[in-house]
Amino acid sequence: MKITKRAKSLIGLITISAGVLAGCSSNNSSSQESSKKEVVNVYSARHYDVDKELYKEFEKDTGIKVNVIEGKAPELLERLKRESKDTQADVFITSDIANLYQAVDSDLTQNIESEIVEKNIPQNLRGENNEWIGLTKRARIIAYDKEKVSPEELSTYEDLTSDKWKNEILVRSSESTYNQSLLASFIELNGEDKAKAWSEGIVNNFARDPQGNDRDQVKAIAAGEGKLAIVNSYYIGKMVNSEDVEEQKAVEKVGVFFPENAHVNVSGVVLSKYSNNKENAIKFVEYMTEENVQKQFADANSEYPANPNVEPSELLKSWGEFTAQDINLTNVGKYNKRAVEIFNEVNWK
Ligand code: FE
Repeated sequence: MKITKRAKSLIGLITISAGVLAGCSSNNSSSQESSKKEVVNVYSARHYDVDKELYKEFEKDTGIKVNVIEGKAPELLERLKRESKDTQADVFITSDIANLYQAVDSDLTQNIESEIVEKNIPQNLRGENNEWIGLTKRARIIAYDKEKVSPEELSTYEDLTSDKWKNEILVRSSESTYNQSLLASFIELNGEDKAKAWSEGIVNNFARDPQGNDRDQVKAIAAGEGKLAIVNSYYIGKMVNSEDVEEQKAVEKVGVFFPENAHVNVSGVVLSKYSNNKENAIKFVEYMTEENVQKQFADANSEYPANPNVEPSELLKSWGEFTAQDINLTNVGKYNKRAVEIFNEVNWK
């Protein structure tokens, strides 16, 4: 009896082991299959529904699965630095040359070698060796109170420092990369002294201590707190298309003015130095520069497409043509640190 019982339980154990082993081996083969499955891992600081639709199209066209991890740009940058060689990221999508440059400067990227990308994106909207690739453009414009200011009174960024705009300038904190890149562009174009004099002049003309985001500056014009605001062009578009009635009403009160040599920044993409799916990543970047994709990607955020063959939206066209700074954007990234120092020196909060 005893033996039989033992034998039975032994048989049971063997059966279980066999099952576990079978389970293991089938798990192994399926994980081998999944590692063979083509993927591209995207860290993205952009979160729009249209992005996901475009990624699905890419999956359909290529069979390459797009895995997206979303976060704010500084968080994703920190994560890339922390993960270093172990990162799963193949590409990183973010706004502002300040963020793109930080990824390049931290040695987290590699050059994107692609004739398709070079054909679709002009040289001034990518790094010298394709260290970064611009996907959309945005201008840092002057929004003005249509009741109190006529566009003939406006001209340059420098003019915003003149006494006639005392207590009338609304602009967000210097912690914003948008302001940092604007000032960095002045360092690149006019030198540090002039850039510092400009930021001092703006601080002297502040309508209030910097607060809120770009949309809040437009709302402050509507509330009569100041006549002019320095904001990114796409926020005007977002407010026009907003479901929020307060935003719609506020934006109706402002006009869009492009200063001479408007500061044009980008959102864009870099290829991770440690990408495990480099070919797929390059295909993905190429896809993002295609005309039909560019159209949807830019329009979703009221931005200008980086591909010059693609028309901007009707709203953007209604704002008219403008001249942009003739500038090396990589240097705007390089001067970011100095720009932050200058802001501190002139007490632009
Ligand atoms: Fe923004």
